Amino acid sequence: MEKTLKILVVDDDEVDRIAVRSALTKAGVQIELSEVGDANDAFSALSTTAYDCVFLDYHLPDQDGLTLIQQLRSSEIKVPLVVLTGQGDEQITLQLLKAGATDYLSKSRISPETLAQVLRSAIRIYQAEMQAALANQQLRESHEELIRKNQELEKQQQQIQMQNFKLLEASKLKSLFLATISHELRTPMNAIIGFSQILLRPKFGQLTHQQADMVERILNNGKHLLMLLNEVLDFSQLEAGRLDLKAEKFDVSKVINLVVCEMRSLAEAKNLSLLMQTDLQNTFVFNDPVRLKQILINLLSNAIKFTESGEIWVEVKELPANRVVIIVRDTGIGIASRDFQHIFEAFRQVDQTITRKYPGTGLGLAIIDSLVRMMGGKIFLESKLGIGSMFKIELPRQIKSPTVADDTSASNLENDGFFCPGKNPHNSYSPAIKVSRVSPKFKL
Ligand code: ADP
Repeated sequence: MEKTLKILVVDDDEVDRIAVRSALTKAGVQIELSEVGDANDAFSALSTTAYDCVFLDYHLPDQDGLTLIQQLRSSEIKVPLVVLTGQGDEQITLQLLKAGATDYLSKSRISPETLAQVLRSAIRIYQAEMQAALANQQLRESHEELIRKNQELEKQQQQIQMQNFKLLEASKLKSLFLATISHELRTPMNAIIGFSQILLRPKFGQLTHQQADMVERILNNGKHLLMLLNEVLDFSQLEAGRLDLKAEKFDVSKVINLVVCEMRSLAEAKNLSLLMQTDLQNTFVFNDPVRLKQILINLLSNAIKFTESGEIWVEVKELPANRVVIIVRDTGIGIASRDFQHIFEAFRQVDQTITRKYPGTGLGLAIIDSLVRMMGGKIFLESKLGIGSMFKIELPRQIKSPTVADDTSASNLENDGFFCPGKNPHNSYSPAIKVSRVSPKFKL
């Protein structure tokens, strides 16, 4: 059933009003009709009541239809308006439409069909206009919202940039502080080590057993502290980009052999076997021997530190594309795959508590990672909790000297799913640790 339409007819001529009323009734339109005779009454009626359509005579006694339309529209009164024009009003129709009339109809054309048609199309046009206006309004609002959000984002971006800048400054200061402190502490520490070594020499007088024991402790603690200081100094220099590699040609198997010999006593003190295997046709490389030694010492100290029983192996092999690989394997406590990424970050350890069983600065792997990158190489890690760990260092036989840290490696998951630090952690974990990849002889 059609809805009853509330119609207002504004016309001072009784005959014309009757004509509209009877035409609409004959057309079968369900209407509730109100009638007023002048513009003033029309304005009051439209201000208080919502109509579905208004039929407005252009010639009103108090003012013309155009002025009334302008008045209504400027008062934000929204209603479909059909102007009924007389003879000679044709030239005004464009102005009426511009002012906000929905449609117009010459009084001479009033008939049930035309009036019903004009009424329906006026309501449709009006509804379409309202929808368009609403959509426009929503667009305007979302545009304004976007502008506001953009401004907020810009503000946040500025704040982040500012904080970034402050963080960079703080980080620089921290590196400088670390570098200065560790440098300044190394001088007295060297004196402590040097003088305790002198004291232990028999030609400077025989110490009692107890005295010798105390001096030895001073010496050992001094060496340990010096090692920690060196780590902090190296790290701060690496961070500041002030550490250069001093590359030369040397026999890599000799250097590795030397380190293994130096570390053997430490391993034996824990009843661990330390085995070495070199498989190189050409044993010469062009690299920084001091830094390569440092990498190996760090890996071996970790292997010894984190292994309670079993063996530690060091292996050196040729790789295609003129590269060599150094592998350090242990049967220690192992590392959970969720920790793979973190342990290569500075000051990060699997056990971060101060009561942890294994001492250390948490800088060793961070330094190794930076050094290996500077050498143009990569580290790979395989490990399983309770079974052991394997660190693989792949290096070009000849490094570019001096090298800048290269972060362009394609993926962490190179070399058949090994973990390789420094890339997106989400892609880098090796969830199932592939112990089977280890050669049978060295199976973890
Ligand atoms: P540090 O040894 O001084 O704690 P590192 O940077 O050398 O610092 O190592 C970071 C952490 O990685 C260690 O604290 C340990 O939790 C883990 N880790 C390193 N090497 C091994 C290993 N061979 N076996 C088990 N855990 C290891």
